[in-house]
Amino acid sequence: MPTKLRVGTAIAKRGELQKGVIKGVELNTTTSIDIPVLVMNGEKNGPTLLMVSTQHGIEIQGIAVILKVMREKVDPKNLRGAIIGVPVENPLAFMHHQYLSWIDNQDLGGGGSASPLTADKPKGTATERLAYVLWQEAWSKADIVLNMHTNVRPDSLFFTEINIGNPKTREKLEKMASAFGVTNVVENVPIPDDAPDTLANLAVKNGIPDILIEYIDGRWISEPSTAVGVRGVLNIMKAFDMIDGDIEPQEGIPIIPGTCTAHGIVRANRGGLIRFLKTPGDFMKKGEVFAEIYDLYGDVLERVECPIDGYIWAYPCGDILGTPGSLQAVQTGANVAYVFTTDVKS
Ligand SMILES: [Zn+2]
Repeated sequence: MPTKLRVGTAIAKRGELQKGVIKGVELNTTTSIDIPVLVMNGEKNGPTLLMVSTQHGIEIQGIAVILKVMREKVDPKNLRGAIIGVPVENPLAFMHHQYLSWIDNQDLGGGGSASPLTADKPKGTATERLAYVLWQEAWSKADIVLNMHTNVRPDSLFFTEINIGNPKTREKLEKMASAFGVTNVVENVPIPDDAPDTLANLAVKNGIPDILIEYIDGRWISEPSTAVGVRGVLNIMKAFDMIDGDIEPQEGIPIIPGTCTAHGIVRANRGGLIRFLKTPGDFMKKGEVFAEIYDLYGDVLERVECPIDGYIWAYPCGDILGTPGSLQAVQTGANVAYVFTTDVKS
């Protein structure tokens, strides 16, 4: 660890927790929209762990996890390594209670687009500039990244997701997911050197393992998200020898064992309101009906079937997951459910 760890305006000496901001963008009022950051520099050497939340502006559960870990659970005097905490990565989205930046409608993480937003454009749009300063000031200084997102109601399964397609990060990602201890969905997608420089792709290219953590009930700070999140983060810190203690198994939530594999999205073939007949985490046989789409007279138009023997992990119904327009209602082609399988027989 350096004697002083600097992130934006926050400078932490060994054994200190400090706060500051990463300089962001300026509105037409000349008001500065900066990114708050907490920096904890441990007394002893070890890895630098970065926790980021609220890349999507309405997914706020990770904020509570970051604050609880850094302000209550970890003492810098006993820390081997350092922690950087960014409670709200995208203040432009958060300030308007929106999923994406209100100013240019872009996704800081580069999601949901054929030409994703990248973190390599210091002269780009407002959101591209935020991604750039986040990479420069926070992500590039980390050895481990915990990227905290949240599904909205109707609730999803609590899960992590890792991409094991890249030899530089695979082993650490598997160790992180195992320590965190919830349902883990595994992707296997090699990221080539010429892939767009999104925050996540830059992490892979630089050998920095970046685990996606999905809490539940996105718009409210609530349990079990805080308790499960804090336990999982502390478990990862124990696994990487940053703090003392035994790994604590997760409790109070459904957990699907084994290696889980995403099977894609089930879409609506009719429009209307939707009711769900199964809870995320319930095992289903292929062809089992898990939802009904009904019209405004109450007649059922479509009985939605599970395409495989597997599980629902979330019901991102309506529009794109988590957008403010999201309602328990669908149009033809809208997302109804994310589905996955596991290699453990139920
Ligand atoms: Zn998200």
